[in-house]
Formats: sequence, C-alpha cells, structure tokens
Amino acid sequence: MSARILVVDDLEANRRLLQAKLSAEYYEVLTAQRGEEGVQVAKRERPDLVLMDVMMPGGIDGFEACRRIKAMPETRHIPVVMVTTLDDRESRVRGLKAGAEEFLTKPIDDVQLMARVKSLLSLKVVIDELRAREANGRRLGVIDEALAPDPLDQHRLVSGNVIIVDDNQHQINRIKAALGVEHRVHGLGEGDDAGPPDLAVVSVAAKSFDGFRVIARMRSVGPTRHLPILAIVEAEDRARAVRALELGAHDIITRPIDEEELVTRARTLMRRKRYMDALRTRLDQSLELAITDQLTGLYNRRFLFTQLTPLVQRAQCGGDVVSVMTLDIDHFKRCNDTYGHDVGDAVLQEFAARIATNVRPMDFACRMGGEEFVVILPRTSGDIACLAAERLRRCICASPFRAPGLAMPLDVTVSIGVASTESGEDTPESLLKRADEALYEAKRQGRNRVIGRAASQAA
Ligand code: GH3
Ligand code: MG
Ligand code: MG
Repeated sequence: MSARILVVDDLEANRRLLQAKLSAEYYEVLTAQRGEEGVQVAKRERPDLVLMDVMMPGGIDGFEACRRIKAMPETRHIPVVMVTTLDDRESRVRGLKAGAEEFLTKPIDDVQLMARVKSLLSLKVVIDELRAREANGRRLGVIDEALAPDPLDQHRLVSGNVIIVDDNQHQINRIKAALGVEHRVHGLGEGDDAGPPDLAVVSVAAKSFDGFRVIARMRSVGPTRHLPILAIVEAEDRARAVRALELGAHDIITRPIDEEELVTRARTLMRRKRYMDALRTRLDQSLELAITDQLTGLYNRRFLFTQLTPLVQRAQCGGDVVSVMTLDIDHFKRCNDTYGHDVGDAVLQEFAARIATNVRPMDFACRMGGEEFVVILPRTSGDIACLAAERLRRCICASPFRAPGLAMPLDVTVSIGVASTESGEDTPESLLKRADEALYEAKRQGRNRVIGRAASQAA
C-alpha cells in the first residue's frame, strides 16, 4: 500500500534518513523543517501520516504542531507519530496528550517504525473511504449537517465499554482503576449486559493463554472486526510488539503500565472508534439505500424530492428557473407480457443507463417507480428542456434494446412531458403534475414524442 508521509524535522540529516527509509518502502515523502511549516503542509497536502520531531528550535515545537493538526477539522483524522530523542515518560505522555497516535524514540528502530506506519496507514485507508463517502452524501444532500459532535475533537470526553483480556489480576485491577474513571471497564465474562465493547485491552504477556491468538481471532470475526485493540507487551520486547501490530492490534503499551499513558492511549483509540462508527452508521442509514433505486441505480423518488424542493423554492424567490421532464416507456406492459418480467427489468436497466449517460452532470435522473422516470434540470428554461427531452427520446428509439432472453433486439420508445417553473405559485408537486399532464398529452397524440407545457397554459 503506497501512501504520502510528511516528515517534519529541523535537521536535514534526520529528514534525509527518514526519507531514505520510507522511500525504500515505496512511500512518497513530503518534508518540512519547522513546526509551522509542518502544520501548513499537513493542511495543504493532507498526507496520510505525519512523522513529527519534537524539538525544533525557533517557532513552535512538535507538541504544539501536533496539537494544531489535531485541532483543525480538516486534518485531525491524520495520524501523527512523534519522533524524538527524549525518552522520558513525561514527554511521551505529553505527545500522546497533544493527540499523537504514537511516540517513537531515536535512533529509530526500522522494524518498529514500519510496523507502526503500516498499522496506522491501514486504518487511515478505512477512514478515508468513509470520509469520502460522507462527503459525497453531503454533496448529494442526504447528509445535511457536519458530523456533530465530532468525536475527534480533543476537547470532548468520549467514553465507552472496555474489555480486558488478561490473566494477571493485579494488572487487571490497575487497568480497571485507571480506565474506570472515564469508561465502563470489565474483564472477560463480566459485564455481559454492558453492551458491545468499544476497546479491548489484550495482554500478549499473559501466561495462561496466547494473546496473539486472541488478537487474530478478534480481527477475523464479524462483531469484533472493527474493535480497537490495545496490546500489552513487556518493555523491550520489540519482536512481540511488532507481531501484535501485524496481527491487527491498533496500539501497544509496555509493562509495567503507566496509568496516565494508558488513559491517553485509550482515549485516542476510543475517539477514533467512535468517529468511524459514526461515519459508518450515518452512511448505512442514509446513503446508498436511501437515495438510489435498486434496479436501475438511478436516484429514487425520495431523493428526487430532496433535490427538487429547494430548487423550486429558489425559483419562486426569483432564482433560476428549473424544469422537469417525466418519462414513461410506451406500451411497456406489452414487453412484460410478451417476454416476461426479467426481460422487462433488463429493458428498464438499459433505459436508465441511456438516460443517465445522456443528461448533463448537473441534472438528476430518477426512477419514480415502474416504468416512469423523472429528470430534474436545474437552471434550465422550458425550451432548452424540450430540446434535451427530444435528445433523450431519440437516444431511446435510435437503436433497439438487447437483453438476455431476447431473440431479437426490441424497439422501445418513450413519451416525455416537460414543465418549468414559470408561474408564481409552483410547488414540486404542481410542477410534476404539469409535466404529467404534458406526458398524458404525448401519449394521447400517439406516443414516442415530447410535449412541453408552459406554466401559463396550465393556469
Ligand atoms: P403506456 O404507453 O400507456 O405507458 O403503456 P404501458 O403499458 O407502458 O403502461 P402501463 O402503466 O399500463 O403499464 C406499465 C407496466 O409496467 C405494468 C407493469 O407490468 C410494468 N412494470 C412496472 N414496474 C415494473 C418493474 O419493476 N419491472 C418490470 N419488469 N415491469 C414493471
Ligand atoms: Mg408506459
Ligand atoms: Mg406507466
């Protein structure tokens, strides 16, 4: 998996060294020399990951730069790894509190670096995908407000269910005490009524069970697939830390556990989990299912009204005129009766594809139901809409339809009614009604034709 990584370090030698290591793994590397510059580049370039030096003389340090990246809604989802020679506990906790996902000490251990980078990047891929879909949903008008409240906001307290998988009772108690302040924490077998977990703390230093197996299993089965895992490893046991990350742990903490570090890491993991959950839920609820017609992939009736209503309202307030066309396939019942429902469906799909590829990008093609379709044409007058409708009519009858189960290609024609917002009192319903009347007229006059209905004629 390739990705763009931003390296922020005041020393050229350090930048070069990291650049060489990362380029060797086929990552694209961006660099910045100062904290402010790092924040700017992050904002402008939206890298997939930031490696941030802590001490950068003159200007803001790495902690502050990280804080700023995590404060901006447009960059706060980008993982930040602090890279520093300061190996004390206080700096580590400071970095994590600034919102950093990880803290690595120089000289950098290559294997550990790559394991971290890969693990953070694979998560980033999922987040990006979800974000892209959400942006799409917002553009289409089915998701109407920003994600609120944003769980990635560092000022918000985010709590949830934590499950501990460990055999060391003393350690379990300490984890419970530390995390219990913000979260509901329980061991395996306890808290069955607590609801699904939001975070698992798994010891791979346990004696009585194989922690790696637990991680691998959690990663592979449905309900825990997206569950963040914090693995506990012995200090200095790099090999096991790397292995845990490779198996799908999202984060590592070493023994003996530092409580403040644990609390901070849990917070970051919990935030990200909530963020991804929220994105997923919103998408599941609203997007694909809600706006598209399953058979044809065109927009559905509900979506038609979410788009048409504001366009008509704006037109009533002196905004741009909007036109609609209603399309109805001629004698479609015959097609069904003669060739069967499946052929009918295939014809509907082909019909929809021809419509979709012959309207402008700003138009909306929708299936109202059955063999009836509507195209919304924003900022389009009645005569232009009639020309567009005529173009669609021709593209339907110009070449016969093919479908599996059809021995001979089938001639299909369509009748189209057109109406525009030109009167004083239009609603989406009245506009569509006029288009329907025009469509009826087209049917009456012999089908395979376009009839435009001006507002004044309808009045
Ligand atoms: P007209 O020229 O007057 O429009 O005649 P028509 O036969 O196209 O119109 P009518 O409304 O009488 O029939 C429409 C037919 O569309 C009836 C129904 O069998 C068929 N139909 C409706 N929905 C679907 C669908 O989802 N799939 C298939 N295959 N057929 C459908
Ligand atoms: Mg019909
Ligand atoms: Mg019909």
